[in-house]
Amino acid sequence: MDESVISRIEAIVGKDGYSVDSAELYTYGFDASIFHRTPDMVVQPRTVEQVSEIMKVANAERIPVVPRGAGTGLCGSAVPIKGGIVMDMSRMNKILNISVGDLWVDVQAGCVYNALNDAIGKLGFFFPCSPGSAEAATIGGMVSANASGMKAVKYGATRDFVLGLTFVKADGEIVRAGTHTIKDSSGYQLARLLCGSEGTLGVITDVTLKLATKPKTSASALVSFKTIYDAGRFVSAVMAKPLIPASCELMDKVSIDAVNKALNNPLPDCEALCIIEVDGEPEQVERDLKTVAEIAETIGATSVTPTHDKKQIAAWTAARKSVMTALSALKPGYSSVSLADDMGVPVSKIPDAVTRYQEIADKYRVTVATYGHAADGNLHTKMLLNPLDKDEWDRGVAAVSEIFDETIKLGGTVTGEHGVGISKAPDFQKERKTELSSIRAIKAAMDPNNILNPGKLEQWEGSILTNLRYPCKEYM
Ligand SMILES: Cc1cc2nc3c(=O)[nH]c(=O)nc-3n(C[C@H](O)[C@H](O)[C@H](O)COP(=O)(O)OP(=O)(O)OC[C@H]3O[C@@H](n4cnc5c(N)ncnc54)[C@H](O)[C@@H]3O)c2cc1C
Repeated sequence: MDESVISRIEAIVGKDGYSVDSAELYTYGFDASIFHRTPDMVVQPRTVEQVSEIMKVANAERIPVVPRGAGTGLCGSAVPIKGGIVMDMSRMNKILNISVGDLWVDVQAGCVYNALNDAIGKLGFFFPCSPGSAEAATIGGMVSANASGMKAVKYGATRDFVLGLTFVKADGEIVRAGTHTIKDSSGYQLARLLCGSEGTLGVITDVTLKLATKPKTSASALVSFKTIYDAGRFVSAVMAKPLIPASCELMDKVSIDAVNKALNNPLPDCEALCIIEVDGEPEQVERDLKTVAEIAETIGATSVTPTHDKKQIAAWTAARKSVMTALSALKPGYSSVSLADDMGVPVSKIPDAVTRYQEIADKYRVTVATYGHAADGNLHTKMLLNPLDKDEWDRGVAAVSEIFDETIKLGGTVTGEHGVGISKAPDFQKERKTELSSIRAIKAAMDPNNILNPGKLEQWEGSILTNLRYPCKEYM
């Protein structure tokens, strides 16, 4: 990084507000995806004014800036593929104001999801979009990815809770978008535009989120099936009843075997299962549990285990959350990698989707685990690969491309919650082809020098097999 730029950044954030140390820079080249690229500088601003001044310097010098929360993204959206500055927002982590009477909270972008939920939980509220990475993911990262989690089917995704936010544009202008009101018909919804923008349109510095009230009680049931197709039919039948569960997690045989091997058998040995949670008033919860059991019986489930026991529910949830890591323990020398990792399909298409994904995995001789938040149509497929072997990557990416084509044919999306980043960029471009010219026009208007997270989303060109974090020499 140019010495004059370093001294201008130091004048804004002080000596302890940035780093050009090579070891530190190397670590900021990762997120939780398969990619890596070392940046040239890391800055850690403390105020919106500092963010604005940094952006003015970067814009004048045409230096790429990649905003970063906790770096838990799974598709490479925080990897600085063109080098430049990584702007680490973790020092802007305060809860600014809570107004329970108005149902909102103002929170800085670097605040961690669990810290926010602990604070509002004491007041009887929660922010229900809990991702599997709740201990680390930041609110800014969640807004930028439009993240969600197990409870999206009933409560919605992050976008549905954003009433307003403050962001800094590429040229340093500070913009306050949206309101502190539950309703807002006041023209273009700029705050919504920033949701899912993955750091390409502005640096979010604080967010106004709507509060949800905590349900009085909840209970769960574990339902097992003879086939993954039956599990898919069950989820669809529950929704069509209509019964909107608080969550409904599906796991296939590969996921169940991996977890049982890694965690000493917390789950029944079966072909497929669903862990379904219902919440609300106690009488409603009892009625819903009964309905779930009736639907399971109609579908031909092999067992239904309902429970109110919090310890049992926590054990099932932990088992489900461990799939991604447990998979890596399934086969020595192999790693679970995020390629096609979070497709969304219409709920009625789940049985077809899960069956097709398995056929595609068999065709390309790759191991794929399918699991996920099935009641909102969001399916995860994690792939087990030998990450040192070029041929494994080639077959993996060919399989993924076909999985995405199938998803789009079923009326789905290549990403339901993790975002596009690098790993889904080519298929995002296929899925959104009629939107691309508008997306490019918006990007050019808001960031004319193309310095905010350049090269991603609609700008990606070529194969995703580049800049891999693994020592596979052909694709590093
Ligand atoms: C174990 C595990 C489980 C996960 N489970 C889920 C899940 O259930 N649901 C889910 O949705 N995701 C999940 N994820 C993915 C990830 O945690 C989410 O996408 C999360 O929202 C990322 O937040 P972050 O703070 O880590 O953002 P980062 O990874 O740091 O950044 C993500 C994107 O947001 C941009 N960004 C970050 N902060 C800002 C800001 N202040 N202003 C502008 N842009 C910004 C970055 O440039 C990047 O494009 C999981 C990840 C892991 C590792």
